[in-house]
Amino acid sequence: MLDQYSLQTGAEGFTNITATVEKSLAESGIRDGICVVYCPHTTAGITINENADPDVVHDLLLGLSAALPDRPEFRHAEGNSAAHLKASCVGSSAAVPVKDGRLILGTWQGIYFCEFDGPRRRTFYVKILEG
Ligand code: ZN
Repeated sequence: MLDQYSLQTGAEGFTNITATVEKSLAESGIRDGICVVYCPHTTAGITINENADPDVVHDLLLGLSAALPDRPEFRHAEGNSAAHLKASCVGSSAAVPVKDGRLILGTWQGIYFCEFDGPRRRTFYVKILEG
């Protein structure tokens, strides 16, 4: 099965999508396997990071912007090369093992949709494979 979800993002930010992924897993009935979360965008991504302190995702965005600023040498005419760089750094997917019907996430881990060039209507997919 492949579940498709959409979300409306803000200009830049991380959206915790863990509960949505867990819903897909529960509906699949799969007890053991692997769960892949994927987004088909070039200026957005998927990452796993801390879900307890919201300052962490704030700092992640701050750090990514500091490390990957917009540069006058960039050629891409759309003008959003920094967002493309950030998307490549975080990646477009995450894979989480499934055991006993649950995602194997650490206590402080959450799955995030990362927007780097919003606001936009975005899509992500959840695929759960048994095995
Ligand atoms: Zn672009």
